[in-house]
Amino acid sequence: CLNLLEIKDLTVHYVTVDGTVHAVENLNLTLPEGKTLGLVGETGAGKTTTVKAIMQILPDPPAKILSGEVFFNGEDILKKNKKAMRKIRGKQISMIFQDPMTSLNPVITVGEQIMEVIRLHDKKLSKKDAYTKACEMLELVGIKADRAGDYPHQFSGGMKQRVIIAMALACNPKLLIADEPTTALDVTIQAQVLELMRKLKAQYQTSMIMITHDLGIVAEICDYVAVMYAGEIVEYGNREQLFHRPSHPYTKGLFACIPNLMEEETALIPIEGMTPDPTNLPSGCRFHPRCPYAVDECSKTNPDSREIEKGHYVKCLIKEE
Ligand code: SF4
Repeated sequence: CLNLLEIKDLTVHYVTVDGTVHAVENLNLTLPEGKTLGLVGETGAGKTTTVKAIMQILPDPPAKILSGEVFFNGEDILKKNKKAMRKIRGKQISMIFQDPMTSLNPVITVGEQIMEVIRLHDKKLSKKDAYTKACEMLELVGIKADRAGDYPHQFSGGMKQRVIIAMALACNPKLLIADEPTTALDVTIQAQVLELMRKLKAQYQTSMIMITHDLGIVAEICDYVAVMYAGEIVEYGNREQLFHRPSHPYTKGLFACIPNLMEEETALIPIEGMTPDPTNLPSGCRFHPRCPYAVDECSKTNPDSREIEKGHYVKCLIKEE
């Protein structure tokens, strides 16, 4: 199938007083149309920087995109100017953040907020029609239309996140990016929001990138998985490949909890050792100070990504028999 998104050799640094943070380096990633990609890894691995680079909402300064191309629908969107990019954001690519309150305006009713998003991208639509559409969007995410006149504080955390999803989907985006969309919610509500996202994916064929710490979420709704470590993708493949044949030592560590996937505790298992200082990364393979399989060569050579089976890429020097 066609790739909706193709990132080539993306490098993003932050220039700070403490030094240069190598947030994302030579990152390559593809997302076929209608599919969901899970982006996993520890805090600071570069996941959020990657998606913010796609959206072009990185704070500049200190962030600098040093190189790379981001093909969306076959066009390199890094080459677009601000105005063109604003059109793409929201209309074609939407993003849901971790904390719904940062995206909702407390003094405007939710119906009006969704309506505004709709009108921003379809200026010909009358206020009345846009409001009707906003109400439909609310119903779609399981909120009664008669609540459109309520303000954000009148909703629970889970409902607010649904409102955000309704807003993100209001323009029928081709790509929905969700940065830990359920972290701030309790477990039952998390399950409901996920169920909703799964339904929407099936109904609208929306492609998604989901940043998450929760392997349960990955197992449930992601078709592909990219594992990030210290600014690089160390393993990429489909869900089956990653869960059944994890090959990078880091992924193996992360996915060590798979037998318990059916139980509630599906968070990533912390791996011994510290995430490296992004201003002073280890030589060679960035994982070598923590890697139980490291050999001498690992501290000298940063391995290339190898295709170990069709569509399954691993960035490690050690070849498994
Ligand atoms: Fe471990 Fe070496 Fe592979 Fe890096 S290259 S993950 S240090 S075995």
